[in-house]
Formats: sequence, C-alpha cells, structure tokens
Amino acid sequence: MVKAEGIHKFFGRLHILRGIDLEVRSGQVMCVIGPSGSGKSTFLRCINHLEKIDSGRLWVDGHLVGYRQRGDKLHEMRESEVAAQRRDIGMVFQRFNLFPHMTALQNIMEAPIRVKGEPRQVVRERALRLLDQVGLSEKVDSYPSQLSGGQQQRVAIARALAMEPKLMLFDEPTSALDPELVGDVLDVMRRLAQDGMTMVVVTHEMGFAREVGDSLVFMDGGVVVEEGDPREVLTDPQHQRTRDFLSKVL
Ligand code: ATP
Ligand code: MG
Repeated sequence: MVKAEGIHKFFGRLHILRGIDLEVRSGQVMCVIGPSGSGKSTFLRCINHLEKIDSGRLWVDGHLVGYRQRGDKLHEMRESEVAAQRRDIGMVFQRFNLFPHMTALQNIMEAPIRVKGEPRQVVRERALRLLDQVGLSEKVDSYPSQLSGGQQQRVAIARALAMEPKLMLFDEPTSALDPELVGDVLDVMRRLAQDGMTMVVVTHEMGFAREVGDSLVFMDGGVVVEEGDPREVLTDPQHQRTRDFLSKVL
C-alpha cells in the first residue's frame, strides 16, 4: 500500500530525511517512534505530498505520489491531480483541527459532499454510522467547543474515514490529550486496524504499538535506525540508539 524508496527531504540546507526505505502492506499497521526532530511528521507529510520529496520514490496503492512517469522521466502532477490522490489518504493530527462553526455531523459530512460531490443523504447516513463507530452517536449536533479533546479527536478520525480512504496516517493523535482521554481514541484506532485499515501511526503509545502494530520503526536523524516486529524491537532492540531512546520513554 505504501512504498518508500530512498526518500530525501531538505528544508533549505537542512537535510531532514536522509534516505528512507519503508514498506507498508495492505491491511498492516506501521508504528513510527523516534526523538523530536527526527523527521517523523515530515515523512508522514511526504506520503500525502504535503511535502515534496527531493529524491527517491514514493508509491501509495501502486501509484507514484505527486508525479507521473512517462518513459524514464518524472513529471510533477498538477495540483488537481495531487488533490485527487490525497482523497484516498486520511490524516489525523495531534491537534484535531475541526471546523469550529460546524457540528460533529457537519464536520464529517463536509468533505465527501464538497470534495467528492457525493449525495447528501448517502453521506449523512455514512456520517451517522461513523459517529456510532467512534462512540459519539449522542454528539451528532455538538460543536467542537462542546466536546472533550478525546471526543474531538474521534470526530476528526470519523471525518477522515468519511472520505473512505485506503490509507490512514496518524501523527501523534493522542499526545495533546489528557491521559484519561487517550484510551477511547486508541480503542477507535485499534478497531480500525482490526477492520483491516492500512495505517501509519506516529505515536509514543508503546502499548498500542506492541498490541496493534504489525511493525515498529525507530527513526533518528532522518533515517530508519531499526524496524521490526514491535515486541522484538521493544524488548530486544538491536541498536544502541534505539536502546537509549527506549530507556527514556519506557
Ligand atoms: P516531533 O516528535 O517533535 O513531532 P518530528 O520527528 O515529527 O518531531 P519533524 O516535524 O518531521 O520532526 O521535523 C524534522 C526537522 O525538520 C526538524 O528539525 C524541523 O525543525 C524541521 N522542519 C520541519 N518542517 C519544516 C519546515 N516547514 N521548514 C523548515 N524546517 C522544518
Ligand atoms: Mg512530529
């Protein structure tokens, strides 16, 4: 579903991603950990072309991200083509970024109607189903300001799912939440994984990574230092940098 080959990314003269090779198979969950500034968010943003890579290749669902290939040459996609590609990729951020002037239901219905032009009634039924799925049937008509952080984040997940994505990217979805609200959000993500969604999850919830992750990636300094079965990486890391990091967070 996702394949990254030799991804490099610069911000000005800063070499942020220094050759990332990773693969996430359909239906698998990859968790990504690593110190602040190691390039985790940047890598996620490259997957949906919110950031342009400087070299390497990225595929989502068999399609090159952001480029068309003609012969040996790569041509940059037009913005409309990039947008079409992005529709298949849901993203959930640390901050929930809901539209404050819209109810939970309206937040979820917005993109399928505006971006995909789907019929309102179809979208409404899907949105109600999704709200039920994230345990918020009672909050259909609530505005973001009337919801807890955890509830807002679950609406944000439902909103991303309303576009029926093939892939979900999560960037520290629980780090802005009070500890007692984290569990409900992780439960929603766990169920999504069980239902077969392909997911890349930047998180420091090691319990989640261990239970739900099919693989665990430790990034540092813009490279993948270590990748493997989460249980193995967490209990028997092969690299000193991984050991040092885990000793600080576990
Ligand atoms: P955190 O755990 O704090 O979220 P991260 O691993 O997600 O960290 P990134 O946000 O990917 O790290 O940032 C990697 C590096 O790239 C950092 O040094 C950051 O300052 C830099 N960076 C990120 N975005 C930009 C930008 N738009 N312009 C310039 N530098 C940037
Ligand atoms: Mg980040």
